[in-house]
Amino acid sequence: MRTDLFQEARRRIGKRRMDQQLALSARLDEIKEKIPEVIEVRRKLAMTSVEVSKLILQKNTDIKAGMEKLENVNLALQAREKQLLAQGGYPADYLELRYTCPLCKDTGFVDGRRCRCLLEEMQRLEVEELNRSSPLQKSRFEDFDLSFYPDETDPTTRQNYRAWMGRVFRYCQQYAADFRPDSPGIFMYGTTGLGKTHLSLSIAGEAARKGYSVAYGTAQDLLRQIENEHFGRTENAGTLDTLLSADLLVLDDLGAEFTTPFTLSVIYNILNNRVAAGKPTIISSNLSAKELYDKYSERIVSRLYTQFVQMRFIGKDVRQLKQQRAMEKRT
Ligand SMILES: [Zn+2]
Repeated sequence: MRTDLFQEARRRIGKRRMDQQLALSARLDEIKEKIPEVIEVRRKLAMTSVEVSKLILQKNTDIKAGMEKLENVNLALQAREKQLLAQGGYPADYLELRYTCPLCKDTGFVDGRRCRCLLEEMQRLEVEELNRSSPLQKSRFEDFDLSFYPDETDPTTRQNYRAWMGRVFRYCQQYAADFRPDSPGIFMYGTTGLGKTHLSLSIAGEAARKGYSVAYGTAQDLLRQIENEHFGRTENAGTLDTLLSADLLVLDDLGAEFTTPFTLSVIYNILNNRVAAGKPTIISSNLSAKELYDKYSERIVSRLYTQFVQMRFIGKDVRQLKQQRAMEKRT
């Protein structure tokens, strides 16, 4: 059992109890204002329980008769409270404490054992934690900041960095909004730190939220995994099949992996199969066209250039600029 999850779940359930008590005290204030007599009746009701304890402590009195009398008073007061509430248009239980979980009355425990609501809360926390650490949750369109792309002309492409990247950004947003399992593939290229991973994962996250199956990872990690499974170094988890069958595959940082005849054939296999099946793949790479041709066979590179939407990323290293800005903020 994760003790931190347990503690946090208990804290949340404690907060529910507190919230219900606050809600009740707000209802009491309201009634005090509108039907003051109800409050008076409740005060008398509280008094009768004090009377009961007194009675028990007294000696030489007829406890039974006394109790009966108090009981009758009690019932009459309760009836009066309900009557007053009903006259005011309130439900009879309006001044009772409500519980989010009636089983444990928001204590998290039933007979010393953890209540269902506590276990559910722990499960929810675990899922929240998983989602937080998933790159699909970290990379969102909302966090994409165009101001990191300078409002200057790129000497190579003669394009304004920001205007160009604004178009790239809007294309990706639209692509994600319209995503279907037969959307075109995208080849994102450009030097490192220009937001390729951010935008490809933003698309992947939105597709996943729509319920499509999404596989993603760096080419390096995925190829190593497939290689290990193929050569029996790890248990076969069916990684290659997952990459082939996913509605969307994001293959990040193609070119950073160590190439062998095996990895080359796997890359070709993935591209060829997915293109033939009409399934979209988003591939990103820091390599230039020349570097791509040097590293991969012509049949791989020509697929990238002919079967994918070409998306060039330009700008100055966003990660460096972000670090700079963070430093400036601190000083
Ligand atoms: Zn409970």
